[in-house]
Amino acid sequence: MSIRLRLTLWYSGLLALALAGFGLFLFLLMNYYLHAELDGGMHARARELVGQMSGVGAVITYPDLNAFSAADTYIQIWRLEGGTPGLVERSRNLGTVTLPLPQSVAPDVEGNYTNSTVEGVPLRVHTLLFRYQDRPAGLVQVARTLWPVQATLARLRLVLLFSAIGVLALAGCLGWLLAAKALRPIAQIAAAADAIGESADLGQRVQYTGPPDELGELAGTFNEMLDRLEASHRSLAEAYVAQRRFVADASHELRTPLTIIRGNVDLLLRTGAQDEALADIASETERMGRMIGDLLALARADAGLRLDKEPLALQVVLTEAERRARRLAADQDVELTVDVKGAMGCQAEGSREHLLRMVVVLLDNAIKYTPAGGKIRLAAEPDGDGVRITVTDTGPGIAPEHLPHIFERFYRAGRTGSEGTGLGLPIAKWVAEEHGGRISVVSRLGEGSSFQVWLPTVPENVDH
Ligand code: ADP
Repeated sequence: MSIRLRLTLWYSGLLALALAGFGLFLFLLMNYYLHAELDGGMHARARELVGQMSGVGAVITYPDLNAFSAADTYIQIWRLEGGTPGLVERSRNLGTVTLPLPQSVAPDVEGNYTNSTVEGVPLRVHTLLFRYQDRPAGLVQVARTLWPVQATLARLRLVLLFSAIGVLALAGCLGWLLAAKALRPIAQIAAAADAIGESADLGQRVQYTGPPDELGELAGTFNEMLDRLEASHRSLAEAYVAQRRFVADASHELRTPLTIIRGNVDLLLRTGAQDEALADIASETERMGRMIGDLLALARADAGLRLDKEPLALQVVLTEAERRARRLAADQDVELTVDVKGAMGCQAEGSREHLLRMVVVLLDNAIKYTPAGGKIRLAAEPDGDGVRITVTDTGPGIAPEHLPHIFERFYRAGRTGSEGTGLGLPIAKWVAEEHGGRISVVSRLGEGSSFQVWLPTVPENVDH
């Protein structure tokens, strides 16, 4: 059963109950008043009759009863002598009919009222005891037909019944319409949920225009839930696309060195020109090894790898990085200056291996992209709660359109040289962030680049 029907039934049921209670109350009240009015009239008539009685000695003289009777009013007098009442006289309109006596007649002034049916006529009978010489002397009975009272009550019953049915029908219809109006937002939410289920379009929303009541709140909550669902669905979809691109790029990047190795092996087999082919094979194998190492590092980063950190002197990392860079710089004919005195004594909580890799990536790039005769500078100095490591070069610089992307995987600005893999900077960025730091770059085309890493440090005297 729908909520709408249930609400309407409940509402109509309660209304029917209230109407029945009210109708019953009205009916009983009317019944009471009509009888009270009737009884009052009969009592007055009986008193008037008793008032006109007169007596001489033991004999009571009664007035003419027909003067007190009417078409709907009957009079009868009993004498109380010798224990059993004896009929004295009755009004003419009673004919031979005797009004019944009540079971017991209380000797009070108000008398007694009973309903009885005589010869098929419903009667209200009033019996009043009268006294003579301080003794109960007889009974006066005044009776009236109950037809007018009964007719009025029957009419009232009909009016009440039909008006209750009318009110109920009207209230039921209105309740049905009101319930529909009140439940419309729920229907809208259900329709929106249905539509989303069918079309898988999380962009749909419930259009609620009503007041900010409970249902408005429900619609709002539902829409907020859809917002969150849509956002998480979007980020999942983006992650899925990024993952696919990553796999595609990785496969592509790995195929190139393999093709070169394959070509060289063929050449070896055909001609036996060993030296050059073997050198190619060696360098491509090394490149592949590097790339696979980088991919592995990033895959571990994606899997949520936590680095093993320990307190370490940054000086050690920087010196080792310098040593490696000097070897590379010598081959490239670039001038490397190092000024890391400012970082002397700076301690960081980190992974030595990964921090070294990060600095080497930056130095390696600088050396790789700076033409012969250029200058490269590695510097480190305290900055706030941490240390700032800067790698500056006088190389070609990076075009503004590439700058926002160079930390993305496999992104290679302008495909400079065949050496790189496009994975160095993403790894450096990951390492910096894993240590609670950040990496940034300032570069101008033709003027060189400057990469900066800020890392938080820990106070030197902390005992670990
Ligand atoms: P790659 O293996 O290609 O060097 P990276 O992720 O380390 O990959 O760098 C991404 C790209 O950023 C490089 O391909 C290069 O175009 C650009 N780049 C990085 N460092 C420098 C630099 N010092 N000078 C000029 N361009 C740079």
